[in-house]
Amino acid sequence: MLDQSNRPALPPEIARRRTFAIISHPDAGKTTLTEKFLLFGGAIQMAGQVRAKGEARRTRSDFMALEKERGISVSASAMSFDFSQWRFNLVDTPGHSDFSEDTYRTLTAVDAAIMVIDGAKGVESQTRKLFEVCRLRDLPILTFCNKMDRESRDTFEIIDEIQSNLAIDVAPASWPIGMGRDFLGCYDILHDRLELMDRADRNRVAESIKIEGLDDPMLAQHVPAEQLEKLREELEMARALLPAFDRQSFLEGHLTPIWFGSAINSFGVKELMSGMGEFGPEPQIQKAAERGIAPEETPVTGFVFKVQANMDPKHRDRVAFVRLASGHFERGMKLLHVRSKKPMAVTNPVLFLAADRELAEEAWAGDIIGIPNHGQLRIGDALTEGEALRFTGIPSFAPELLQGVRAGDPMKAKHLEKALMQFAEEGAAKVFKPMIGSGFIVGVVGALQFDVLASRIELEYSLPVRFEGSQFTSARWVMGPKAAVEAFVNVNKGHIAHDSDGDLVYLTRLQWDIDRVSRDHPEVRLTATKEMM
Ligand code: GDP
Repeated sequence: MLDQSNRPALPPEIARRRTFAIISHPDAGKTTLTEKFLLFGGAIQMAGQVRAKGEARRTRSDFMALEKERGISVSASAMSFDFSQWRFNLVDTPGHSDFSEDTYRTLTAVDAAIMVIDGAKGVESQTRKLFEVCRLRDLPILTFCNKMDRESRDTFEIIDEIQSNLAIDVAPASWPIGMGRDFLGCYDILHDRLELMDRADRNRVAESIKIEGLDDPMLAQHVPAEQLEKLREELEMARALLPAFDRQSFLEGHLTPIWFGSAINSFGVKELMSGMGEFGPEPQIQKAAERGIAPEETPVTGFVFKVQANMDPKHRDRVAFVRLASGHFERGMKLLHVRSKKPMAVTNPVLFLAADRELAEEAWAGDIIGIPNHGQLRIGDALTEGEALRFTGIPSFAPELLQGVRAGDPMKAKHLEKALMQFAEEGAAKVFKPMIGSGFIVGVVGALQFDVLASRIELEYSLPVRFEGSQFTSARWVMGPKAAVEAFVNVNKGHIAHDSDGDLVYLTRLQWDIDRVSRDHPEVRLTATKEMM
């Protein structure tokens, strides 16, 4: 972690920002929770709209139908909304394990994460994978244990599972009273409040009753004797056995506060949101090769962490999602596009309010803005007010699966090239052009991505394509002194290709290939990751 001591207080507009993602296993309730966030954030009138809008989008594109069919979310987006005095930026993470690279990059743009688990299922495989990515970045994590209106596991058992499975301390922020049919609500440990669930109205916030500790006679008016006794017993045990909430430890990623609730009943959601506001991290220092960029620095800087093409089929544009690292951005600003060294007037940036886009007149460090462009902006690119910065930590991974690709109609090869390059820029796939022969080799991290690509190329470019086996199984970027690299390329032409950035790649069949290179060409380095810049 970068040293944050002795820093001046952030400008209030920056200090009120919370930029985070939700991680979960499919079906735990991420979509429902997101809807309720937007509902309480005033971004939508009635919960259900996120889905409704999603549905409308899907009918416009069969690619989205694929997404629905597989029950995964292939496209990520960012949503901004206000809650109490805070501005929340929620960055959606693609849910499926096949999209780990995309997810990884999304998590480079946030300062915190909410981990949603199903109270009956506990920590599931995908939760654990995403958690590990958060841990790599020391992200503070808030936990929401959902579906308490159903038969769930014992509260201690759930907490225990998180502690032992994920090796993180868990501090209860609330404690459930009953479960399933008998689920009444929660005792808010951090504020000594009783929160009662209203089953009748799923879009309303539950009743909140201020309590003076566990001996307050008010408790007995709302909680039946038997449940009250159990609550007192459990809380006593919890205080003895579990760590108390400690903000520093949470911010460092060693401890996660847990809230219990039911997203579908809007229960526990506001407490979770308040928790994010009260305890969640302010926009953090972002790492660049040159130095750490502090959010309060006056010049505007930001980096592209995601590019999405054809978001709106009516406009064939691309939107680059930029995390602002510092400063106060105003629409119309001229920023330096560091990679091309060219100025770029940002005249039509967008903020994402639920599924609608809205023109962003201004934005602050911590915000995510979308910049429509025609392909100039790529993942990893920096935008600044003049400084030649290079943000780090946005890796590109060597693909684990390679296939050749051909257009169904051989006359359409140029078309195919264009489509492939676009997906390469989006980061949806790696595209390699071999030095010898025609055609392309596409590399992905998960097999499902081939299906997604084929269906997108067909839909967005009206181009049926065929993927076919390739003799190669993996790819490595080639680094080293120029002369050594040239000598190496000369004798390995059959294995050499260029990626979409024009960088040299060595296509391999077996680990044996790689070992041979390191023996025969000691000066040449083959790497499995490349920093995007
Ligand atoms: P996602 O895959 O994580 O986005 O999960 P969804 O939000 O789509 O929820 C999965 C299913 O669980 C849906 O059928 C929801 O209606 C249901 N669900 C979500 N939250 C709750 C809850 O609090 N209680 C119950 N009983 N069901 C819920």
